[in-house]
Amino acid sequence: MPRPIQADIDRLALTHNLARVSSVVRAHDPTAQFWAVVKANAYGHGIEVACESFAAADGLALLDLSEANRARSAGWSKPILLLEGPFSVSDVHVAQQLGLTLVIHQLGQIEMLRAGLIGRPIAVYLKLDTGMNRLGLQADQYQRGFEQLSLLQQVGIVSAISHMTHFACADSFDGIDEQTSRFVEVVQGLPGDWCLSNSAASLRHAPAIAALGKRFERRLWYRPGICLYGCSPFDDATAADLALRPAMTLTCELISVRSVSSGDGIGYGHAFRATSPMKIGVVACGYADGYPRHAPTGTPVAVGDQMTRVLGRVSMDMVMVDLTGIDSAHVGQRVVMWGQGGPSADLVAQSAATISYELLSGLTNRVPRVIC
Ligand SMILES: *Cc1c(COP(=O)(O)O)cnc(C)c1O
Repeated sequence: MPRPIQADIDRLALTHNLARVSSVVRAHDPTAQFWAVVKANAYGHGIEVACESFAAADGLALLDLSEANRARSAGWSKPILLLEGPFSVSDVHVAQQLGLTLVIHQLGQIEMLRAGLIGRPIAVYLKLDTGMNRLGLQADQYQRGFEQLSLLQQVGIVSAISHMTHFACADSFDGIDEQTSRFVEVVQGLPGDWCLSNSAASLRHAPAIAALGKRFERRLWYRPGICLYGCSPFDDATAADLALRPAMTLTCELISVRSVSSGDGIGYGHAFRATSPMKIGVVACGYADGYPRHAPTGTPVAVGDQMTRVLGRVSMDMVMVDLTGIDSAHVGQRVVMWGQGGPSADLVAQSAATISYELLSGLTNRVPRVIC
């Protein structure tokens, strides 16, 4: 019998979440286009199920050629955006074979295009660093980058040239103003579509972004990720507030139920000590499955249909939970670590001082994904 742990992946929730963010954005920008971000194995959910569930998206965005290859093998025929662009000339060849769209975030990548491309022209997204200070050309390099790409366009190496940037603080209400004005300043004189918004910007700043597109008569592409998987990009709004549905439910079973006495320590380091006699359960889920080791005593978890808490330190393959007041608890009982019928991944992440992105993308390969 397999170890009792699995991640249920809800196709309908994925499809619902894409429809949800689309409707928020399209209320302001009816011609909005969407890259569904499926990097990191679709945030742990699986590229193949993402291809199927996000069929309504205009493209997929990711950053591994192997994942792009999986998407093509799964039948995805629409565009695929390679978010970090090529790392070598040979990547350009593979990208061309797979028909990818390349982000160009540094001038060296234009050299790779020049050296690598023959035949079918490739679409590019030139990326401007507007203040994230991560990837992207600096403002004073941008014009040069654009001119070099335009020359490659004239000789048939490059097809469409679009413009993109990435926001550092789109989760706050005034978090995009400075970066959008820098973007507009540099890019407004150059032809091409614009691509600005992650989940936070799509859900919180759609009116402002749409107004920008209208004013400069640009088609806008959006790049939502985390919201597609049913998690919130905000501290001050839950996924339920945003009408998103959890797409991954991590379920396990109790593999042992035991009683402890007042004063007994539980698990490694006796990090939790009982202050009265209590019943505890052992769950077949640990940090080698991707459950966060930093989840402390008190982290929410559901046993059957009751919410309870983690006790003590998370081990590699197991974690203990409080069964106080759950009289019916028994070996084999279903436990939900996060997702439908349990705490949200956002809540568990918050308790472990991290973000849902890390939990979803950190689910390890030994946890079977069951598509439902
Ligand atoms: C991951 C990523 C996104 C999606 O971000 P979310 O916060 O998950 O919506 C968008 N753009 C780029 C460049 C990314 O790397």
